[in-house]
Amino acid sequence: MNIEHIKKTDFEVAEQIELELKRQQETIELIASENCTSLAVMEACGSVLTNKYAEGKPHKRYYNGCEHIDVIEEICQKRACELFQMEHANVQPHSGAQANMAVFMATMKPGDRVLSMDLSNGGHLSHGSPVNFSGLYFDVKSYGINEYGEIDYEEVRKMAIEHKPRLIICGASNYSKIIDFKKFREIADEVGALLLADIAHIAGLVATGLHPSPAPYADFVTTTTHKSLRGPRGGIIMCKEEWAKEIDKAVFPGMQGGPLEHIIAGKAVALLEASKPEFKEYAAQIIKNAKALAQGLMDEGLDIVGGMTENHLMTLDLRKTGKTGKDMANVLELVGITANKNTVPNDPQSPFVTSGIRLGTPAVTTRGFKEEDMTEVAKIIAGAIYASDNEIALKNLRERSLKLCKKHPLYE
Ligand SMILES: *Cc1c(COP(=O)(O)O)cnc(C)c1O
Repeated sequence: MNIEHIKKTDFEVAEQIELELKRQQETIELIASENCTSLAVMEACGSVLTNKYAEGKPHKRYYNGCEHIDVIEEICQKRACELFQMEHANVQPHSGAQANMAVFMATMKPGDRVLSMDLSNGGHLSHGSPVNFSGLYFDVKSYGINEYGEIDYEEVRKMAIEHKPRLIICGASNYSKIIDFKKFREIADEVGALLLADIAHIAGLVATGLHPSPAPYADFVTTTTHKSLRGPRGGIIMCKEEWAKEIDKAVFPGMQGGPLEHIIAGKAVALLEASKPEFKEYAAQIIKNAKALAQGLMDEGLDIVGGMTENHLMTLDLRKTGKTGKDMANVLELVGITANKNTVPNDPQSPFVTSGIRLGTPAVTTRGFKEEDMTEVAKIIAGAIYASDNEIALKNLRERSLKLCKKHPLYE
């Protein structure tokens, strides 16, 4: 990674970038929403495109000099539509949250009703949390997961019939089972609701056919580009042609100003990468690694919410160990593993403490971790949890995690 110019002009920032690179190289990244993007994607994001204002759409801009920007944005749109089999793509959302905001704005008036998954059950802030704009300006009803860690579709159906939402949202930030988009469509049709599938987490799996696609069923598909899809930090909205105008208007001038064309170029590069056979192998390995990690943890006597995972992530349920998610996420950091605390169903702890830890495999799979490495990761995690007060044991575990990092170098 070349930062020679920053080093010359800004020692303080350069130093932190170098330290962050070292941190990424020397820790096992299990935050389920993170990944390590390619150098090609990073080059696009660090390119001259950052200089350009391009408010509007390709060929309908408010600024001149957009001839190359237009081509890049059109390439990106085309690749998104092809990869996810959708009719229209707006690739301008700065983030996943803004992609969802734009769908809200395009489809509803303030006060209209939404049915979505509860945040503490695995949903996302932007799906109607009371502290988010989506919960402040819309009337939100939420469904959860049952004790098996699964969506109870009959429960969703009953709620939809009772509340008659204008929009139903499926897709989650922490859900380890396959989502039945067809069933959501049937429920939406039964009550005349629109359906938004937010595939932020599983986009890489959907793109490769390793998770069923919402394309035949959803009116709108939103995604982030930086999670399992392995692109730059950003969002995309896809929809049927009949909604294209409303969606585009909601993004600009609705809620954003100039699009980040350097990031859009990065998204285009990532979408091309995701269409290659190597990416399908990568996505398959993400799932194999998640299953190996879950199995390894269960073999060590730990519980996983809902048992075996069907995708790239899982929640470790710490209730029977008597430890909390907050404490154990900190202990894992001591042994060189990054993960985040998370609530479990019927969590006795507050959302700030929690009884769970969410673990995901997209980032380590990018580094080349295989099943046997995940078994070792499971042993390190279990060791850290069981010996969380034993400094010497934790030190030894740190050595073992560093060894795995050295075995699979990153950006070297
Ligand atoms: C991560 C995520 C988002 C939001 O992404 P940001 O880019 O952080 O705004 C939206 N929806 C779901 C389901 C997510 O997991």
